[in-house]
Amino acid sequence: MVMEFEFSKISSAFKRVKQDVHSMKNYVKDLYAKDQQRVEDIRKLQSQVEILTKELILVRSEKTTKTINKTIVEEEQVIGNSDSKMAHVESCPYGKKVTDEHRVFFQDKLDANKKGYKFCVCMKD
Ligand SMILES: [Zn+2]
Repeated sequence: MVMEFEFSKISSAFKRVKQDVHSMKNYVKDLYAKDQQRVEDIRKLQSQVEILTKELILVRSEKTTKTINKTIVEEEQVIGNSDSKMAHVESCPYGKKVTDEHRVFFQDKLDANKKGYKFCVCMKD
């Protein structure tokens, strides 16, 4: 009688241990699943960062191109009409009308100014 009682006590203790192990296994499984989810989230974030980085590089290169274009415009050839003593940028419609005979070239606006040429409206920006 005593032996039987002890056995059932031990048996139910084992059962409890077994249940604990089972629930611990489930707990670990759950943790692992959550961990996988976090890994997935990190991957998504990383790809978003990559996309944003690419966009940033694109925006920067566009900015650079704009700056270069501006520089080109600013450095347009300055010409003058030795007859009227007027200075123009080469793209100016009045500047284009200057005959080869009267056309003179300057390094820049300052150069034209030093040589006593007045600025056409195309030079005032
Ligand atoms: Zn002009």
